Amino acid sequence: VGPTIAAGEILVEIMATDRGLGFLEPLTLVGPYPSGAPAIFIDQVARLGGSAGLIGCVGRDDFGTINLERLQRDGVDVSAVAVSDRYPTGSAFVRYRPDGGRDFVYNIAESAAGQIRLTHEARQLADRAGHLHVMGSTLSVAGLRDIVAYATKAVRARGGSTSFDPNVRKELIDGADGTQFSALVDDADLLLPSGEELLTAAGVDDECQAVKALIARGVGEIVLKRGAAGSSRFAADGSRIDCAGFLVEEVDPTGAGDCFGATYLTCRRQGMEPGKALFYANAAGARNVTRRGPMEGVTGFDVLDGFIAGTQRAT
Ligand code: ATP
Repeated sequence: VGPTIAAGEILVEIMATDRGLGFLEPLTLVGPYPSGAPAIFIDQVARLGGSAGLIGCVGRDDFGTINLERLQRDGVDVSAVAVSDRYPTGSAFVRYRPDGGRDFVYNIAESAAGQIRLTHEARQLADRAGHLHVMGSTLSVAGLRDIVAYATKAVRARGGSTSFDPNVRKELIDGADGTQFSALVDDADLLLPSGEELLTAAGVDDECQAVKALIARGVGEIVLKRGAAGSSRFAADGSRIDCAGFLVEEVDPTGAGDCFGATYLTCRRQGMEPGKALFYANAAGARNVTRRGPMEGVTGFDVLDGFIAGTQRAT
């Protein structure tokens, strides 16, 4: 029992509308959209009816306001989101390459998001949490590492659980300590990597070997994200479930992984069996990519059920 909590960057995202153009020349941008992987994740938890809280920091500006208003409207406890008078809300600029890859320009370290601290309010939220979701960006902000260390202990002391989404953005974790990354992997009851991240986490180049190695290291459950192809779930008892993706036209891939992870976790915390939770998670990830803006595709069960009923799946 107790809310699901996440900690980390709350940002606005501003994105290029055309694929293929770099930031070296003028291009058309749209935004700001509420963003930041932990914010997207926790908003989706709340939209599915889960009790949810976020630890973060925004500036006292319009970029902070659009995030706080969205999170509050969707039912997220923002009592542990500090508001800085000194630093502006962080931002991320994203452009899409023709091959589907993405490039980001982040303003986090010198923004409010870089000022995140283990405050009294953060401790209070962590002390009553039932689940902690950790993200790869933890590696890049010192204050965030303190929060994750404290909250992991607090959640475990109450018999709660943790999940880790490596969410590797090379722009954010370049130079990060490999030992710290391994520790976050080893600490996770549920690991939510995408393909490459699974191999990086295990330090091998074969999927089956990677799963075996991580389970042997104590990871309880691995849910692997495969983009348009769907997802797979591997458990410590050796079982495996594959779930095909939904056929959609991708408009904006950013945020799919967070929506997916939040949906899987929330369904499981609500007592749903793994195969069904994976199915809902696939639907949430697929629907998210049909909307422009990372947090614009988060949604509740009513919309997800309609999406599932009206959308074909890959075979
Ligand atoms: P991000 O880093 O952008 O948040 P990710 O790399 O962590 O994403 P993805 O594998 O891209 O995660 O997406 C998560 C899930 O969302 C997939 O496992 C799949 O279920 C769904 N999904 C993502 N992209 C598509 C797509 N183009 N078509 C259908 N489903 C998709």
